[in-house]
Amino acid sequence: MPEGDTVWNTARVLHRALAGARLTGSDFRVPQLATTDLTGWTVRESASRGKHLLLRLDGPAGEERTLHSHLRMDGAWRAYAPGERWTARPAHLIRVVLRSPGAVAVGYHLHEVALVPTAEESSLVGHLGPDLLGPDWDPDEAVRRLAAHPEQSIGEALLDQRNLAGVGNLYKCEVLFLRGVSPWTPVRAVPDLAGTVTLAQRLLAANRGRWTQSTTGVLRRGGTSYVYGRRAQPCRRCGTAIRKEELGERVTYWCPVCQPERD
Ligand SMILES: [Zn+2]
Repeated sequence: MPEGDTVWNTARVLHRALAGARLTGSDFRVPQLATTDLTGWTVRESASRGKHLLLRLDGPAGEERTLHSHLRMDGAWRAYAPGERWTARPAHLIRVVLRSPGAVAVGYHLHEVALVPTAEESSLVGHLGPDLLGPDWDPDEAVRRLAAHPEQSIGEALLDQRNLAGVGNLYKCEVLFLRGVSPWTPVRAVPDLAGTVTLAQRLLAANRGRWTQSTTGVLRRGGTSYVYGRRAQPCRRCGTAIRKEELGERVTYWCPVCQPERD
């Protein structure tokens, strides 16, 4: 599940593969950029903002552009050595190819692919709340934004990237389990919003640098989460069957005993 940590890792992969390199070719397989050619452009850096990827480039005439992409549920970027076969996903899912002398970056099933002047990046990511893995992470601001909608369920509020950027469904479910809070609890009734966002940040940060997302500290298959993906399995704390239900537009997992409803 691409959440803030996965996107952060992806940005690092792209940075290591391409930063400082002059592109020797590009191939955009999305209609809006079909005629774009970034040959001769230099990759300055790759960064993430919440779940958004930002590849910043310098043009031959001094132009500054940012290539934006979003992984949503199913997107991925891979870096290959020149000449290496692109095996990560089927070829028909390829949306962007960036070639440099040392590496080829291939973007699969990317969403919201856009190329904008770097000075206008905020048109794409300016609405986002504080980035949990950003250098400017601001828990007080995240709490302020959450608290501005007191009647919203905390389960939906944590997923709203305008409140804080980087939490997806996995971390939402896991944070609320660890805090003993039902996902249906209105924001105003959550006992410690600051503790909740701080824990979310710690869980995401702990998974930087690895592709296995674990909130339990266990990395083996089947042991990486407390509730997420564990419907009908026993709660690791109390043994009650974990439940799964729709909440807003997403499903949520929770333990009805460890996470009693509050109001
Ligand atoms: Zn339980």
